Amino acid sequence: MKLELDIKPLKNWFPNYTKPLLIAGPCSAESEEQMLNTAKQVAAFYPNSVFRAGIWKPRTRPNTFEGIGDIGLKWMQTVKKETGLLTATEVANAEHVEKCLKHGIDILWIGARSTVNPFSVQDIADALKGADIPVFVKNPIFPDLQLWAGALERINNSGIKKIAAIHRGFHSYDNGPFRNSPKWELAIELKTACPELPVICDPSHIGGTPELIPYLAQKAMDMDMDGLMIETHFNPISALSDAKQQITPIELKKIIDGLNIRTSSIASIELQTKLVELRSIINKIDNDLLELLAKRMAVSAKIGEYKRSNNVTVLQVSHWRNLIDKSILNANQLGLPEDFIKAVYHLIHDESIRRQTEIMNNPGNHKST
Ligand code: PEP
Ligand code: MN
Repeated sequence: MKLELDIKPLKNWFPNYTKPLLIAGPCSAESEEQMLNTAKQVAAFYPNSVFRAGIWKPRTRPNTFEGIGDIGLKWMQTVKKETGLLTATEVANAEHVEKCLKHGIDILWIGARSTVNPFSVQDIADALKGADIPVFVKNPIFPDLQLWAGALERINNSGIKKIAAIHRGFHSYDNGPFRNSPKWELAIELKTACPELPVICDPSHIGGTPELIPYLAQKAMDMDMDGLMIETHFNPISALSDAKQQITPIELKKIIDGLNIRTSSIASIELQTKLVELRSIINKIDNDLLELLAKRMAVSAKIGEYKRSNNVTVLQVSHWRNLIDKSILNANQLGLPEDFIKAVYHLIHDESIRRQTEIMNNPGNHKST
């Protein structure tokens, strides 16, 4: 894919930038108190971070919280005044852009539901003409790289040179353990087409649950992404949107401080030993293995549900024999020892059976992951 954008480097828009650029704050602006409480804690840990909060919320279904509206702009100003943090919010139309520019919001982002619609993106791009404000473009909900690139081009064509992409995962009918499939390859393809484009990962919307955030954030850093957007709320269970995926500022600190930030500059790669290089390849493969295992278990759970509704036993010995024989044959050809593969498959099979048995016995409370 070809993608030519005229972009100023991150260091130019954020003189204090160190990797990762951190964007933290609640999914939605809810009250001045909620914003200030959250922002003050985040600012105490990361004074160079950006405070995010959605003021107008694009909700998939109506009759849910659709954002606090214009009053949130005033709260953003208070946050900025009291904490010194830069502020960021989502814009979905020209009116949002005008209001944000008028209220001194520092950074705007285009949400996944807007990126899919070139009319909306063009409307936003037109309203941005003449402004000098960073704009982040989230990937479209569907895994269409052209739509993502097209939105970045439209914003760039309107004269905005501080542009970044946000990777927030894609809708798919097989999301594995994630709320949105990461499909890392699409973010990599975008970065490959335009290496000067900063890419920020949003592990909150990919994972959909706090437990997956450390893994996803580390993986994003290993993919050489430039920043992280993480939904942070001083009291996540009370959140009016995305309550299940938000974390507290203290949890955020634990995750960010625990990251292993590897360098990718040519000069230092030359200085690195071969061992460090090989270990990072292994890390990536291990992450892929984990994702594959999680996917495999999700399929097992589906099989379990199917067996339960058809009243079939969990274990079918002949099927299991066939599977292990075939795997050993394949493993031999790949140079993997039989004992090793048998041991691995026994563990996988045990866990698969355990899950299916659980589904048989607790059909009501099972939540397939
Ligand atoms: C959000 O950041 O709260 C949001 C609505 O994200 P997305 O556009 O990625 O769904
Ligand atoms: Mn959200």
